[in-house]
Amino acid sequence: MDSQRCRRVVLVSCPFQGHINPMLQLGTILSSKGFSITIVHTQLNSPKPSKHPEFDFQPIPEGLSKQEIACGNLVDIILALNERCRIPFQKRLIQMMLQQESHDEITCIIYDDLMYFSEEVANRLNIPSIVLRTSSVASLLSRLAILQLKDEGYIPFPDAMSQDQVPDFRTLRFKDLPICEFGTPKNFYQLLAHVCDIKTSSAVIWNTMDCLEESLLAEQQLKQFPIPIFTIGPMHKFAPACSSSLLKEDSSCIEWLDKQDPNSVLYISLGSMASTDEKELAEMAWGLANSKQPFLWVIRPGSTLGSEWIESLPEGFMETVRERGCIVKWAPQRDVLAHPSVGGFWTHCGWNSTLETISEGVPMICRPCFADQMVNARFVSHVWRIGLQLENQLERNEIERAVRRLMVDEEGEEMRKRAEDLKEKVEACFKKGGSSYNSLSKLVEFMSSQ
Ligand code: UDP
Repeated sequence: MDSQRCRRVVLVSCPFQGHINPMLQLGTILSSKGFSITIVHTQLNSPKPSKHPEFDFQPIPEGLSKQEIACGNLVDIILALNERCRIPFQKRLIQMMLQQESHDEITCIIYDDLMYFSEEVANRLNIPSIVLRTSSVASLLSRLAILQLKDEGYIPFPDAMSQDQVPDFRTLRFKDLPICEFGTPKNFYQLLAHVCDIKTSSAVIWNTMDCLEESLLAEQQLKQFPIPIFTIGPMHKFAPACSSSLLKEDSSCIEWLDKQDPNSVLYISLGSMASTDEKELAEMAWGLANSKQPFLWVIRPGSTLGSEWIESLPEGFMETVRERGCIVKWAPQRDVLAHPSVGGFWTHCGWNSTLETISEGVPMICRPCFADQMVNARFVSHVWRIGLQLENQLERNEIERAVRRLMVDEEGEEMRKRAEDLKEKVEACFKKGGSSYNSLSKLVEFMSSQ
């Protein structure tokens, strides 16, 4: 590493909470290793520069209208981002290159795998690029499996096959495959092919750990053209102070948690995008109330269809649960999961939430909603066996049973023990000498030699 040169790295983030978090964590990690960081981001869901004075932020217009965003068709939104950001990104990079001093050259572009237009621009301008994968190796393999099954004519599959194992990926059933229901199949497969193919990029940074996915990584290396892969997860543990919430965190829930017994509270959050309808909300509410367990529930404004916030909670619910329940709009999730009172997490199994939960040794109730969440839920419940999955329509008796299985029964205690064991393995990965720690050192060397 040339200490005279300030190596600038341009990070291209994708405008969703579950993608902004790992990208800004990566920025924080690389900044601590001496790189100068520029974050290129869209105007949509712009991160807050004031929270990261160490970064240079460069917004680019993505040109999405309010209607396009409101339609909620994620596939079309991501395809549009890739179409519309390419030229503004290229212009911005050229501007930066014209202004750059010799000691501040852009040495590398790191982009979120959903923002694949970045690779094309980097290649055109002769700048090395690296892709950041913010979901699991299993989820990439499941995407490759979908593309193959489609070529072989297995997709779309009939309902009768939904419980069958996927031939090349037996951990998953057909119903666990992240086949998207948004938009047209043609657009979905187009997006999938782009995201799986890293084209001219020279390496992959993966927010995962060898102790979780080593054998899957070996399989991935066999299936795709092998290039260096740096598994440096869980990245939030390398950047504990990095905070990038788009919504305001309500820390009052920590005071509420302080008053609860150890391991007694069920934390519930379905992440930044998933939503429920009023009926599901009512079933969840009564299931929680009838379980008699204390709970901390994140209900995002607008996350119940047709409701601003919690006005569609069923009548009598608040009076029934009283102080046993705490409801917030957005929580400081990593602090919540690390709190000794939290004994379980009802999660949608987004990859960040899954990593954050595993890192704290908390067992889970999995209720995946879409995309890679189904794959993560399968691994949590059937491979690592640190959670149980709620599979059928949400129904209060089933919810009550699931909560008690996790929080009260012997079965939940065993899951908690396995979760604690896994937490120790994860700690060994990111502590000095561990696989993620070493991988990060190799990444820094690799980037310095670009
Ligand atoms: N999160 C948070 N507070 C909340 C709910 C979620 O800080 O009340 C964070 C969570 O810690 C995670 C991210 O939002 O880092 C959600 O990402 P994930 O991949 O789990 O799910 P997504 O939102 O992408 O579906």
